[in-house]
Amino acid sequence: MIIIDPGHGGHDPGAVGPRGLKEKDVVLAISLRLAELLASLNAPVKLTRDKDQSLTLDERTTLANSLGANLLVSIHCNSFTAPTARGVEIWHSYKGEFGDRHYGEAKRIAGILQQQLVQETGLLDRGIKTRTVEQKSSPLYGLDYYAVIRKANCPAMIVEIGFISNPTEETLLASREFRDKAAGSLGDGLIKALGLKPKEQPVQLPPGLKETTIAFEELELKGFIVDGRSYVEVRKLAEAMGAKVHWDPVKNRVEITK
Ligand SMILES: [Zn+2]
Repeated sequence: MIIIDPGHGGHDPGAVGPRGLKEKDVVLAISLRLAELLASLNAPVKLTRDKDQSLTLDERTTLANSLGANLLVSIHCNSFTAPTARGVEIWHSYKGEFGDRHYGEAKRIAGILQQQLVQETGLLDRGIKTRTVEQKSSPLYGLDYYAVIRKANCPAMIVEIGFISNPTEETLLASREFRDKAAGSLGDGLIKALGLKPKEQPVQLPPGLKETTIAFEELELKGFIVDGRSYVEVRKLAEAMGAKVHWDPVKNRVEITK
């Protein structure tokens, strides 16, 4: 189970950009898209929130731990007093409440995600990092500084996608195109890191139907025959013929365009 955690939410806006963009909205959009991508690969995935909702750090890690998560990816944007600060970085597990056994795997996955993010978004590479509590008098001394990482019983990481405090990156973070790109890069990273494969679901024909094969060049599709007419998955055939297929669930209508 992969847990995607959109940071902040509800009464906590997270960091706010110079033009008023809220971190909670950016990270929710990216997380929803990422979860959708993973679900389309039939990967087991769950979001800690899928709407503008307040959640404590405990609620996030409790959910992950109770589901037996294999990975917790918390999505954030960075912020700094100097507006020139920019780029992407990932904080990952070092030593949490469950010990240091998630360190190696967290570091490996964070490295792949970071590389993919930098490559696909073109943002500055600030690297992957760990951060521990440095105050010697603290009972948490030497443990992961960030609670969402420290309390997770799985490899965990905070992905900081750009600086919302940087006007250029705020503009990027506000755009649908960039959000999709960021989500896509994390999806590609997880596919690499976890060896996810798109799963083809075999077509289940209703019993009693006569099967047939519909061939278009090298593509062979399984179909069936009713009353002497052949039926086949329209998306696969139309896309193979170079058309675009759009399903409108409101009109209950498939639209094919060239
Ligand atoms: Zn944040």
